[in-house]
Amino acid sequence: MKKSIKDYDIKSKRVIIRCDFNVPILDNKILDDTRIKASLETINYARDHGAKVILMSHLGKVKTEEDKCNNSLLIVSAKLSELLGIRVKFSAETRGPLLETLVNNLKDGEVLLIENTRFEDIDSKKESSCDIELSKYWASLGDIFIDDAYAMVHRCHASNVGIARYLDNGLGFLVEEEVNKLDSFMSDNSHPLVVIMGGKKVEDKIGVIENLITKCDKLLVGGGMCFTFLKAMGYNVGNSIVDDNNIEFCKRMLNQYGDKIVLPVDIITDKGARKVSDIKDNECGYDIGNETIKIFSDILKDAKRCIINGPMGVYEDKKYSNGTKKIYTVLKDNNVKTLVGGGDSASSVNNLGFKGVFYHVSTGGGATLDYLSGKTLPGIDVIMEK
Ligand code: ADP
Ligand code: MG
Repeated sequence: MKKSIKDYDIKSKRVIIRCDFNVPILDNKILDDTRIKASLETINYARDHGAKVILMSHLGKVKTEEDKCNNSLLIVSAKLSELLGIRVKFSAETRGPLLETLVNNLKDGEVLLIENTRFEDIDSKKESSCDIELSKYWASLGDIFIDDAYAMVHRCHASNVGIARYLDNGLGFLVEEEVNKLDSFMSDNSHPLVVIMGGKKVEDKIGVIENLITKCDKLLVGGGMCFTFLKAMGYNVGNSIVDDNNIEFCKRMLNQYGDKIVLPVDIITDKGARKVSDIKDNECGYDIGNETIKIFSDILKDAKRCIINGPMGVYEDKKYSNGTKKIYTVLKDNNVKTLVGGGDSASSVNNLGFKGVFYHVSTGGGATLDYLSGKTLPGIDVIMEK
């Protein structure tokens, strides 16, 4: 068991909490504050126990000086102040005397947010390459390090793995809950276990397919992902999204696990409903068709567990959200123990009206995929055992 924030006496200690405040922002407005809200439990615990709380997070990607303007965490500090009901202090510096003064002046229960850790990427990617000097510097600002940035645990950056190497450390509640949920889902051996793959990032999901195909009873493939498989089978998929680099991979999977993999038989394209054998050159597939929904539903009705990774179509557009919605409805109506992983998968669950319905909707995309693929997660690996 990994150490947790609860394993430390944090009264009057400087506790650095690595959060994930990487929220979508448009026109200086936070579009979705789910991740900020998800961090509150650990922050409040630290405050209630008298810690001097220092928060760190990245936001977006920062490659140039100009990127700094659109990726400042200042807007998050305002939101945090509102949610916590206190004035959250903000350091516009990621290192230097101003930051150090702010840290030194922190009183018990106060909260300081440090500017976007990726501002340190402008100078030779110090954050993202887990630079030792930067890691030691940040560690020098605190007494205890708590990692609560679940969506980052598959990365080895200075602000998570780096700091942890130089301080007593533990996990926050968010990471603990995610890991516990994933562990108990995977160790519950009830079958049939059905995996639903969709979305568009075939490349990112190869590891998951390879790992889960051996554990599941059926793999249903929809979304943009299905066209690479359909092309591998020789179908014309028109202008639909295809990952040409992975056709051979799909062929290999189909050869080896043809009895487990279930592909769409009909598709909704921009020109209408089509059998997969009738897709024309100038057409683009955006959702699964009614016959496919029926075939997938019949399999899901008998499932005991289901893993969803990727929506069945372009769910952001009402015209193409039907497949995703129908599949979620079947899972709901049949009480299938369902684990949802992936950023867009989580959004689709919330936006299509299925909030709170499933066993677990992970806040992490890549982290959950890596976990399900059986890879070790460096952000968790580095945390001390109890
Ligand atoms: P996740 O974030 O859950 O891992 P992905 O990022 O791989 O999922 O894919 C989600 C995206 O895939 C969504 O933006 C969705 O619109 C898109 N998508 C789904 N089906 C298709 C399709 N048939 N063609 C193109 N894009 C698709
Ligand atoms: Mg995505």
